[in-house]
Amino acid sequence: MRPPSRWLFGFVAGVAGALICALAFAPYVYAELSPVLEPHTIVDPARPPLAAGAMVDDYWAVQRLDTDTYAIGEPRYYQQNYAYLILGQRRALLFDAGSGTRDIGPIVGRLTRLPVTLVVSHLHFDHLGGVGPFASVAMIDLPQTRADVGGGRFRPGRYQYLGLVDGRSAPTLTVAEWLKPDATIDLGGRALRVLSTPGHTPSSVSLYDPATHRLFAGDYIYPTTLYAFLPGASLSAYHATARRLLADLPADTILWTAHCCRAGEKISAPWLAMNDLRDLDVALSAHEAGRLKGSGFYPIRFPVSRQMTLATGFAWNNR
Ligand SMILES: [Zn+2]
Repeated sequence: MRPPSRWLFGFVAGVAGALICALAFAPYVYAELSPVLEPHTIVDPARPPLAAGAMVDDYWAVQRLDTDTYAIGEPRYYQQNYAYLILGQRRALLFDAGSGTRDIGPIVGRLTRLPVTLVVSHLHFDHLGGVGPFASVAMIDLPQTRADVGGGRFRPGRYQYLGLVDGRSAPTLTVAEWLKPDATIDLGGRALRVLSTPGHTPSSVSLYDPATHRLFAGDYIYPTTLYAFLPGASLSAYHATARRLLADLPADTILWTAHCCRAGEKISAPWLAMNDLRDLDVALSAHEAGRLKGSGFYPIRFPVSRQMTLATGFAWNNR
């Protein structure tokens, strides 16, 4: 038998090297391949079945949570994002800009005449994509967000924005206000606390409204599948955030989240309660102890509760 040629050896070594790289950088490889791995229609042509709120312009689901708080959903968008419009007496805060599939500006303009400041829960395209109409953007003041500023303009990195999933390029914007973690945003008669809540991404933000015991939680937690496997996600940060929120927030806090829908329910602004946060804390502890059985290759899905599944990368990713 002839010994294998150098070419064959080189080919095998090359394939093995590529495989090791793919496993080592799985979150980035997954993000790059996701348009092929998960093809999807961006906008569902069917009329969505709403459990609360009303359809406006055949695209937006507008739901009034109280006289000064609105949820603005995109139920036909494949990720079913919800943004929140929070009104004070002097100014309004829009928490998340939506995906940018449709211009959210006119719908916000119909709901309030107050000057609007945009705060995004994190930098992913489905939350920052609709930034276009907003001149006043406030950003969490962290080293990683400051690092995105060049020449006075802010632009998220490729794997911070992840617009490649839908073929969208990252916007460039001016940050009007930097928000330190634990800072208070005064809207006039209503103050919100800025919480740094890493886990889904390192610069994720939640807003706490102490007057109503509401936490606007972005993608830190929501019903359905929690994404803890994309670039920047961290399970240890997820766990530390869960424990801090459980220690700091009142037991009757309602968590208003950014992706629909609750298990077994039709479309409405997706909410969870503190017991759901406790379920996540318990699941993360079990995962750390190796007691949680997952399924699938990448991402690996772990059961959390009836409302949630936790999707993670390999053991060496997203630690
Ligand atoms: Zn999202």
